[in-house]
Amino acid sequence: MRTALLLAFACVAFAAPRKVLIVDGQNNHKWQETTPVMKKILEDTGLFQVDVATAPPKGADISAFRPKFKDYAVVLSNYSDFGGGSVWPEQTQRDFEEYVRNGGGFVSVHAADNAFPNWLEYNKMIAIGGWMGRDEKSGPYVRWRNGKIERDTTPGKGGHHGRPHEYKVAVRDTKHPIVKGLPAEWMHAKDELYDSLRGPAENLAVLATAYSDKSTGGTGEHEPALMTISYGKGRVFHTILGHDVPAMQCAGFIVTLQRGVEWAATGKVTQKVPKDFPTAGKLSVR
Ligand code: ZN
Repeated sequence: MRTALLLAFACVAFAAPRKVLIVDGQNNHKWQETTPVMKKILEDTGLFQVDVATAPPKGADISAFRPKFKDYAVVLSNYSDFGGGSVWPEQTQRDFEEYVRNGGGFVSVHAADNAFPNWLEYNKMIAIGGWMGRDEKSGPYVRWRNGKIERDTTPGKGGHHGRPHEYKVAVRDTKHPIVKGLPAEWMHAKDELYDSLRGPAENLAVLATAYSDKSTGGTGEHEPALMTISYGKGRVFHTILGHDVPAMQCAGFIVTLQRGVEWAATGKVTQKVPKDFPTAGKLSVR
């Protein structure tokens, strides 16, 4: 018993960090500020070693942009072609599909779910996305109604948010490793609350929702905030949180990102919920 315990500790202590690749370079958000913040959030766990692949800027030739996705346990996208940016080259798209289908982890943060409205496989990976012409042809809206997830095919635009504000995130799948042990509801720091996202919504689990209040310009619906999607053998974690650096300083963002990336890499979460995790009544900013 004692030996087994020691061995277990040794394995944790000496396990090589999992390699994570953050992809950025274009985004209608300040990726130059948020990528280093997320890199530090992940490396602070001691579980991950993070590289960054930065695509050429909008308007430049992107044809040679071909990160070696398969060298990584997880690819985290901080990339969006919103506003006339570059769609990844065909070969890079096929590489990425093959990588996730074969068991690679993928994490979509905030505006990454605006990207690539016409790349069907990408939209299957994120399940739902917003803006850039998305509408009923993209797939249903996904809402938490009457204690369960509903897919709503009502015609209309995909993607919207009201005024940035502090809001409550409600855990809906208490058994999932990413959110297991978190308070049932917790306050998130001032951020955009994406609403009305729509897409294929296949193989989707909604782990947490946020109520989009009409008083802040929202929908009056409980909107998906944290999600997982299975794509082939790959695991995808999708968070709508993280518009800017202050939103990323919320312990709720930090911890769910750390746990989401670990789950995408391994299917498990070994990280404990820290004492400073926010509660329903109390924000927690680091
Ligand atoms: Zn935003």
